[in-house]
Amino acid sequence: MKTDREAPQASRRKTAIAETGSEKTGSNRPDGRISEMDRAAGFEIGPDFTRFDQINDIFSRAFWDDRVKSADTDAFFDSYRRAPAPRRADGFTQRDFAFRNAAWVISDMVSERGGDRGLREGFQALIEPAVPIALDAAPLGTAAEESRSIKAVAKRFGADLVGIAEIDLRWHYATRVDVRDFSKAPNELPDGMTHVIVMAHEMAPELVATYPSALAGAATGMEYSHEAAIAIQLASYIRHLGYDAVASMNDTALAVPYAIQAGLGEYGRNQMVLTPEYGPRVRFSKVFTSLPLAADAPRRLGLHDYCQSCTRCADSCPPRALPFGGPEEGGDSPSTIRGVRKWSANCEKCFGFWAKLRSDCAICMRVCPFNRSYDRFADRLWRRLATGRWRALARWWAERWAAERRTASDWWKGAGDSNGGGG
Ligand code: SF4
Ligand code: SF4
Repeated sequence: MKTDREAPQASRRKTAIAETGSEKTGSNRPDGRISEMDRAAGFEIGPDFTRFDQINDIFSRAFWDDRVKSADTDAFFDSYRRAPAPRRADGFTQRDFAFRNAAWVISDMVSERGGDRGLREGFQALIEPAVPIALDAAPLGTAAEESRSIKAVAKRFGADLVGIAEIDLRWHYATRVDVRDFSKAPNELPDGMTHVIVMAHEMAPELVATYPSALAGAATGMEYSHEAAIAIQLASYIRHLGYDAVASMNDTALAVPYAIQAGLGEYGRNQMVLTPEYGPRVRFSKVFTSLPLAADAPRRLGLHDYCQSCTRCADSCPPRALPFGGPEEGGDSPSTIRGVRKWSANCEKCFGFWAKLRSDCAICMRVCPFNRSYDRFADRLWRRLATGRWRALARWWAERWAAERRTASDWWKGAGDSNGGGG
């Protein structure tokens, strides 16, 4: 990978997100299309909507907010670098932590290189471009042709699903975090960005089947490392074509609404995007670009509707952090975005559980009945029933044939297979 960090465009003008559009809503489309698109995406945005300050996400708060920061949260972060927390419990041995931490290492190499400038690339700052923008722009086809070609390139680099959305500043953090002192910093995007390419990265099913375990955390780390490489490669490809592009993981903007807007899936009770291909068992990366592209449309797939009468994720959550009722607006936590009616987790309870485990938890991903591989006819038949008028039958079926959690020691013995952990 080239590391030309002094590329000519490094000095290109950047616009702080808060300078563009309405300060409160970030609306960049005054022509009324937002509400039409919101309806299609299932977004319910109220008049109190306020863009989110990233400093209030639960991971940032664990560094500055005494209501979240504790000896456990400090030990949680330490366990990824200096002090793994091996113990006798299955899935939490030194070997499990070693595998998890090694899986993260490429992502860590990207995210740590700008620390002295307050940038945690991929998490609290855009990923610095690896190559300059070509001086001559390549001749382009139509926007639809370019979108097809971008998706083909992204998939060849390793993305499992790819969708495209127009830039929607509502989902961009009002401010990002300077990680030197955990203060608010301008959340900047280069001028001229018009679209975001959203990529989904499938997590290994046989590792996800072992949540909660440090071993399962390797599935998370591996996809962060994969997505860092894939997003940097895709952004570099576009820059070689002569157009601006920057790679992004969890930084800069919320991936969930963008993934829904790009037609990749629907919002679930477990706060994840439910994709028809993998259910919630994916992670997302993004590439912001000025390349003229055709945006995809949100899709109503029937997965969100299934959640209305399913509570398996909420039932299975050890600290009871997920809601059992319908979508609601607000909540008391600063970590919940204002003015959006949706299912929201109690982030403090959720992350408190992670901190005690010394590893990430995704039980609510593992137990979701949409977490399947869909390579078996029975799984595809179940999805067809679950997303249509036979939903009640699908629920009955899922309740009776829910897959058991697999153990980490089984995985190490070679007993892991490629099936999802759903019912
Ligand atoms: S477990 Fe059930 S309620 Fe939770 S996200 Fe999956 S389908 Fe929706
Ligand atoms: S990640 Fe674990 S603790 Fe958090 S909501 Fe899901 S099941 Fe609950």
